[in-house]
Amino acid sequence: MRFKASLEFAEKMDAKDPLKKFRKQFHFPLHKGKKAIYFCGNSLGLQPKQTAKAFKQELKDWKTLAIGGYSGARNPWLFYHENFKKPLSKMMGCRQHEVTVMNALTVNLHLLLLSFYRPAGDRYKIIMEAGAFPSDQYAAETQVTFYGYHPGDAIIEIAPRKGEKILRTEDIIKTIENNKDAVALALLGGINYYTGQLYNIKAITEAAHNAGAMAGYDLAHVAGNVPMELHKWDADFAVWCSYKYLNAGPGAASGVYINARHAHNKNKGRLGGWWGNAEKTRFKMEKGFKPKPNVDGWQVSTAQVFNMVALKASLEMFEKAGIKTLRKKSVQLSGYLEFLLQQIHNIKFEIITPADPLQRGAQLSLYFKGKGKEIHQELTNKGIIVDYREPGVIRVAPAPLYNSFKEVYKFYEIVKAFE
Ligand SMILES: *Cc1c(COP(=O)(O)O)cnc(C)c1O
Repeated sequence: MRFKASLEFAEKMDAKDPLKKFRKQFHFPLHKGKKAIYFCGNSLGLQPKQTAKAFKQELKDWKTLAIGGYSGARNPWLFYHENFKKPLSKMMGCRQHEVTVMNALTVNLHLLLLSFYRPAGDRYKIIMEAGAFPSDQYAAETQVTFYGYHPGDAIIEIAPRKGEKILRTEDIIKTIENNKDAVALALLGGINYYTGQLYNIKAITEAAHNAGAMAGYDLAHVAGNVPMELHKWDADFAVWCSYKYLNAGPGAASGVYINARHAHNKNKGRLGGWWGNAEKTRFKMEKGFKPKPNVDGWQVSTAQVFNMVALKASLEMFEKAGIKTLRKKSVQLSGYLEFLLQQIHNIKFEIITPADPLQRGAQLSLYFKGKGKEIHQELTNKGIIVDYREPGVIRVAPAPLYNSFKEVYKFYEIVKAFE
């Protein structure tokens, strides 16, 4: 695609965008009475207009049916999590019985670590990316400590080479190979929240399995952003949240994938609760936990319906748009942003996100030596909502479902005018 740095070009791209109708279906925050330019969908996605209607429906069913809503609501609450299997299985590239929704992201990470991080003998180490999202770091740190290990010994962090900002796949694989008798689990992000780098899940999973280890992923920045093939790649487990690209609102319930090989294994260790037990025997209130023979066997508590309503409404839009079409637009949109940023010479910054579209999602991370915070403030004053992460990085994430090429162009004009 040949890009041009002109408003006319951006408008032309918008006119032929097959997803353009979705933009109107979102609420935007305002700046001086006009829609702000919102490139922060990697932190908190915007609210779809149909979300309020979906909440009203559940409130009505609760009001009129009360307990009867578990089986009689328009979307029976007893099986509420089943609404997500089809759309999420397509997005994540897995089977329907491998994917579910429950709890929150870090909670699920802990639950799955209990099943998939089984330290024993010399094999007790977790391999992670250096600078993983803090919640993931804390989860790994407290898990290894829980088993009596020292984090400095039990957690191996892979860092970029000197003078580099992103990880090389070969270094990730080499680290796994070099620790093949000690590694119990490779635990990586899908996309690193800071650099925007998308990891090669297929290659990492293969290396982990060759080393006799499990491979698990935090896909918080991937879900709704980049299509996955988790089953084909044979990943053991993955977790993600629903409030970033999935637009399901602050703290929305989290997604979980568990490979069929484990999901069907009723003897796989886990912490159980009644929602993981088959509906048929759940209400007999008997002794003896009998997990469902699929990922839902990891459910613990009653489906948190009001924490999932917005996700249901939002996934209907993803179903209509199609993750592959979204990805296609996203590659162009972020590519256009990159192209325009390369025309800017008045301020100094470096795009640390990989230039290869196969190694990134929607987000580009701009590294400003020293002045990042001031520039972030100036952008905010001009009605551009992006976020700043220490040290020195402004993350710009145009979301293909609601952002336009024109907004990317306007962002460029504003940055270009900076002193
Ligand atoms: C956003 C994010 C989280 C947040 O976890 P919560 O439990 O939802 O607060 C954790 N890990 C990563 C990689 C994230 O991007």
